[in-house]
Amino acid sequence: MANILTDTQEIVMKPKEVIFRRKAEHVVENLKKRNISALYCTTSRDAISEIRKMIPEGSTVALGGSVSVIQSGLLDTLRTMKIKLLDRYREGITNDEVEEILKQGVSADVLVTSSGAVTAEGKLVNEDGRGNRVAGMIFGPKKVIFMVGMNKVVATVDEGLSRIKNVAAPLNCIRLGIDTPCARTGFCDDASCHAPQRICSQIVIIESNRVKDRLTVVLVGQELGY
Ligand code: SF4
Repeated sequence: MANILTDTQEIVMKPKEVIFRRKAEHVVENLKKRNISALYCTTSRDAISEIRKMIPEGSTVALGGSVSVIQSGLLDTLRTMKIKLLDRYREGITNDEVEEILKQGVSADVLVTSSGAVTAEGKLVNEDGRGNRVAGMIFGPKKVIFMVGMNKVVATVDEGLSRIKNVAAPLNCIRLGIDTPCARTGFCDDASCHAPQRICSQIVIIESNRVKDRLTVVLVGQELGY
């Protein structure tokens, strides 16, 4: 019984660290079976260092709407790199400029984004409002890099969709100031959620990848994004 934890911080964090690592090893193995490159980093800092190496100097880099990319500090790092960053979050950017950036993003060299959920089997589950983010995941950019906190790892596709609708969407609607049923109650009410407010318009589940090294999932042993 020598391994029983007593320190409060240890009691909270140690089992999480252990289970994050164990889950990550399982998910990385299953992503690779689907021809999706994958690795696990314990911290955002390590993840950012790995992602930097994946982006060639001079490349055009698009951003999928992602709180994880902002929260982790990856966006700040991208802004310092010798790349052409299609920076949709630039201060003072106009709606027309964002629109143009979203169009350019579909044919960028690299798309940097997150995934709404990653299943134990290695499937990537996403919903999108405009479709530009999931479009780029499927086709266009030569490389797509997903930075995913372990809070987004789920057992099944159904759990992933539920997570997106009942955890991520309410928070995103509040962040974006959009009045939807999930923003009002915290739970999705699909039947009474209508355009144009609705942020869930397309569901994309990536089950495999044909082009070698096109998709890379970087799992991070922290809670990131929604
Ligand atoms: S369908 Fe509507 S209510 Fe449901 S998660 Fe999406 S935005 Fe929220």
